[in-house]
Amino acid sequence: MPPKKTNDEKEHCSFCKKTFAEVGPLLAGPPGVYICRECADFCHTLFQQEKRSRAIKALPFDHIPAPSVLKGELDKYVVGQERAKRVLAVSVHNHYKRLVSRVGRDDVEIDKSNVLLIGPTGCGKTLIAQTLARILHVPFAIGDATTLTEAGYVGEDVENLLLRLIQNADFDIEAAERGIIYIDEIDKIARTSHNVSITRDVSGEGVQQALLKMLEGTMANVPPQGGRKHPEQQYIQIDTSQILFICGGTFSGLEQIISRRLGKQRIGFRHNDGTPVVDGESLAFCLEHVTTDDVLEYGMIPEFVGRLPVMCSLMPLSEDDLTRVMTEPKNALFRQYQRFFEMEGATLEVTDAALREIARKALERKTGARALRTIVEEIMLDVMYALPEEREKGATYTLTPKVVRGEESLFGKRKEGRKKESA
Ligand code: ADP
Repeated sequence: MPPKKTNDEKEHCSFCKKTFAEVGPLLAGPPGVYICRECADFCHTLFQQEKRSRAIKALPFDHIPAPSVLKGELDKYVVGQERAKRVLAVSVHNHYKRLVSRVGRDDVEIDKSNVLLIGPTGCGKTLIAQTLARILHVPFAIGDATTLTEAGYVGEDVENLLLRLIQNADFDIEAAERGIIYIDEIDKIARTSHNVSITRDVSGEGVQQALLKMLEGTMANVPPQGGRKHPEQQYIQIDTSQILFICGGTFSGLEQIISRRLGKQRIGFRHNDGTPVVDGESLAFCLEHVTTDDVLEYGMIPEFVGRLPVMCSLMPLSEDDLTRVMTEPKNALFRQYQRFFEMEGATLEVTDAALREIARKALERKTGARALRTIVEEIMLDVMYALPEEREKGATYTLTPKVVRGEESLFGKRKEGRKKESA
């Protein structure tokens, strides 16, 4: 029988003891038992959390997707970056294999394989890490190395990265302990060579040191409210030994270190088959040849690099890649816009030449695929503003290079539909 509401002012909530006067109407259970709205809400939240954490716990740990399956899923969202997708599919598969193998066996220790991704801005580093977490249904958190500082200095403690993961796992510590943390801008905490010991390198080497333990695996104490650690605070304890850390950075200037090492600066690079590397390709060429030594010379400390045994570079996206980014992934920009138009009873067509024009514009901005959204949003704004109120349903809008260049309006490219709504 569903519980009934009572307005009896003499009664109080059996859980928090607050009275009708304090919390308003109560729900009545068996005789003399009542619950207030606040406590009921709290129960609801608890049950929701329980339900979600059960879903997270029901990880496919007895059946870890094969690398090819992971790569296949990545292909649905990430354009290009074939090598990075393969490397990550293998290392993520192995990471979770290692986790399963630890249960009940201690004869062989498989090392943890945190990952270092090197590649220009907007080429898909975060996207790959995020997509993997989604495929595996594990909690995921993104952090930015530039906000971190050594304990005791102004800035965030490294434990805040863990707090974010715990929050994203709805405070289910067990689930968080199997999660993935992506740390962006890791190159920004490189040791600065001119930094001498009279001043402490607060933001660089110190942060690398602070991260070391966490990457390797430790029992960390996380302040539940975030912010700085405080001696009287109660901490959340979390074991980081099973958390997969993926670090990413652009490492701008690294290509000079690589090219110096390769010693081919003056005569230019050559591919293995002897053909010369043209200008636009040289960054990709360098990235393909990156080694641990280059990263060390860049200013990462050996212990830190040692804890990121899987290193992989991602390539800058070409005009072709950018064109594909706009149309191919499951959540591609134009797929989303086309769905919006469909919902308004209209159609959006985009010519190949227009896609190329947008890709070229994006390349000029040098922020990889990140520029695409901004450019496309600018183009679409006026139409998106007017579309919901358009009386003429069924119109087709065609996005052409001229519209992209701002020489024509997308409205001018509208073909009237046949259906006409009564005014
Ligand atoms: P970064 O390499 O700087 O971490 P992100 O992964 O955050 O770049 O990419 C920014 C956005 O650009 C993503 O959200 C995604 O929409 C798009 N993007 C970047 N690279 C790719 C790619 N290879 N395939 C598909 N989309 C991409």
